[in-house]
Amino acid sequence: MIRKTRLFTPGPTPLLPAAQFAMAAADVHHRTPEFRALYTRVLAQLKEFVGTKNDVIILSSSGTGAMEASVSNLTSPGDRVLVLTAGKFGERWTALAKAFGCEVDVVSAPYGKTFSLDEVAAALKLETRAVFMQANETSTGVRHDVQGVAKLLKDRGSEALLIVDGITGLGTSHLDMDGWGVDVLIGGSQKAVMIPPGLSYLAVSDRAWDRMEATYNPRYYFDLRKERKNAKNGESAYTPAVALIAALGAALDYIAAQADGNLVEGRKKLVDNAETIAAMTRAAVEALGMKIFCESPGAAATAVLPPAGVDSGVVVKELKSRFAAIITNGQGEMKGQIFRIAHLGFFDYLDTIALIGALEQVVAKSLPTPGFAFGNGLIAAQKVYAERTSK
Ligand SMILES: *Cc1c(COP(=O)(O)O)cnc(C)c1O
Repeated sequence: MIRKTRLFTPGPTPLLPAAQFAMAAADVHHRTPEFRALYTRVLAQLKEFVGTKNDVIILSSSGTGAMEASVSNLTSPGDRVLVLTAGKFGERWTALAKAFGCEVDVVSAPYGKTFSLDEVAAALKLETRAVFMQANETSTGVRHDVQGVAKLLKDRGSEALLIVDGITGLGTSHLDMDGWGVDVLIGGSQKAVMIPPGLSYLAVSDRAWDRMEATYNPRYYFDLRKERKNAKNGESAYTPAVALIAALGAALDYIAAQADGNLVEGRKKLVDNAETIAAMTRAAVEALGMKIFCESPGAAATAVLPPAGVDSGVVVKELKSRFAAIITNGQGEMKGQIFRIAHLGFFDYLDTIALIGALEQVVAKSLPTPGFAFGNGLIAAQKVYAERTSK
């Protein structure tokens, strides 16, 4: 049979056709009025997408570039920082903070879990200068409690900046950066905004801009103050990824169009879309006799434990070889133990139903699950969809 390749991966995610066309047409020099108009518009749209009044900076890098920029711009060697980690991306914060000479305290939870606020409270010191965390830990599917951590820092009157990797949290969680008091919120282009890899963006609070006046870790390409200054004039410090910026504009237009041109409402709808697809997927895999890997699962991706004794790579391989559906294995030590299905960005009802149908075929052929019958996963997903969309 014909097989259409489809990504169900938590970055890169499926591309929005309108964004692809915008990219192909982006034959623009970056020191022209045409580019300045585009850049200024996209930066303003990004504020609405992130949900903040703070300035947003775009960098030509994958998401990790913005993570590095927030460490290099906001810390000095010897600063005490706190990393909250429960997976691969949390570990990246620890490695980055150490690379820039910070004294790193770590609160960690096992893979698949999230940390308790009591542990965070106990680890927070008077001299803690920054707290780093994920909104959503993509390697395990967990959604962390950003609001709870922000409130804790506020209640304590902590001077620590709260720096959140929202790379898969944005577009899958209702985050309130300004209301909660998050200082840096980071996103990446190949996630919920439906365009290829290559851009990262971050919103930065006034408190964090002030902190940059005094910090002295080395930075050059990722100098946020330099980018901010240039952005005020509609430009970036160096040659930007012009085509990706054009694509981002088209994608944000599309998200706004979901709510009659209101980008803030469109973003909420995008989050609800991911939530519905995630709930359909969770119901389906459970009805097929498998378990969700993590506690407090987020809507970016669902991590699933295959039946006991089965290597999760079997599911990844078969979905690809039989149906050209690309999902992901576990990362690092989770390889072989879980498989992950993404929901963030440009996924709809039909994509979801199709993947669940294909998963049933894989279970039928290769996964020994007691009580399996064709349709069990689909029925469960259909019910969730009907319930959630009837309101
Ligand atoms: C994808 C992702 C990143 C960034 O990874 P890059 O490969 O640098 O884009 C960071 N954090 C999380 C939670 C992610 O999902």
